[in-house]
Amino acid sequence: MSGTTDTSVLIIEDEPEIRKFLKAILINHHFKPSFAETAKEGIKLIKLHPPEAIILDLGLPDLDGLEVIKEIRQWSAIPIIVLSARGQERDKVMALESGADDYLTKPFGSAELLARLKVTQRHIRHAISDHLPIFENGNIRIDLEKRHVFVSNDEIDLTPTEYKMLCILAKHVGKVVTYQQLLREVWGKNAEENNHYLRIYAQHLRRKLADDPMMPKYIITEAGVGYRMKAL
Ligand code: CA
Repeated sequence: MSGTTDTSVLIIEDEPEIRKFLKAILINHHFKPSFAETAKEGIKLIKLHPPEAIILDLGLPDLDGLEVIKEIRQWSAIPIIVLSARGQERDKVMALESGADDYLTKPFGSAELLARLKVTQRHIRHAISDHLPIFENGNIRIDLEKRHVFVSNDEIDLTPTEYKMLCILAKHVGKVVTYQQLLREVWGKNAEENNHYLRIYAQHLRRKLADDPMMPKYIITEAGVGYRMKAL
């Protein structure tokens, strides 16, 4: 996948090795990267030359990455992908709840990085938020007017709760949706602690979508964070 029009990406990261790694991949795939080593410098650059996407390290020397997200979100909706260390699921959840669009866990590969950037770039032809009546991804088709779901052209039966969960994942296709967000949107505010609902319903959905529970193609578990419908 390539940045079609030399998409500008600002990288805010203090580790030179990671900057070097990102630079090589992005230039190779026709993105236009720029760099900041501190939060302050990054925020200044965004205000001067707003990029089309931001890659933000959560562990910066001068300011907590979460504060950086909150600051940027006061005046900009530019997609933000955060970089986080393995095992820091809580940080990832908080970054997402603070307005980040997605995250990558270090160390990550180029395919993962490009997939995340692709989602921020997509002028989402199948976005539910664009009020299109039909959503399509891989073999799945959702008729949002009639509330019918098809897998390879065969209609499948979903309960209202399964349908709701599927639609929320579809609305954010390619992006992770946190457990809390799913629980809130499907079951309501009082259900935010009931993570086990999600495990059960994810299993139901995978079965009905003929998704392999061991190697799911559509409904991916992001351990400790949430679920993602992979964009195919
Ligand atoms: Ca760092």
